[in-house]
Amino acid sequence: MLDKTLALIAHDGKKAEMVSFALKNRDALAAYRLVATATTGKLIAEQTGLPVDRMLSGPLGGDAQIAALVATGQIAAVFFFIDPLGKHPHDPDIQGLLRICNAHNVPLATNPATADLIIRTDPL
Ligand code: PGA
Repeated sequence: MLDKTLALIAHDGKKAEMVSFALKNRDALAAYRLVATATTGKLIAEQTGLPVDRMLSGPLGGDAQIAALVATGQIAAVFFFIDPLGKHPHDPDIQGLLRICNAHNVPLATNPATADLIIRTDPL
């Protein structure tokens, strides 16, 4: 299963919820290679002890890097906790990642409730 990769991203206002999600689902996540944007990945690795391959931070192109992985079939599911109340200088990259997930029919959770449903079914 480790050949399957999950992508994890959380905006600043949602990072605490991402850490909670990762801790709660640590065993399930451990079965996958994990990639994340820089700060999200650092937090998850620190809090769970799981290895996380870190891309650039979102505002510096991390979302675009993950979009490229999705587009080339390297990501089984994306967990992208978006803060709908925040302003994001990299909104074009955020929209691009969402679009690429939909273009390639890759499972995409943009909030913890959906993430719980996806990870519980272990469909990856
Ligand atoms: P970060 O990037 O994990 O480096 O904070 C995520 C984002 O804000 O898009």
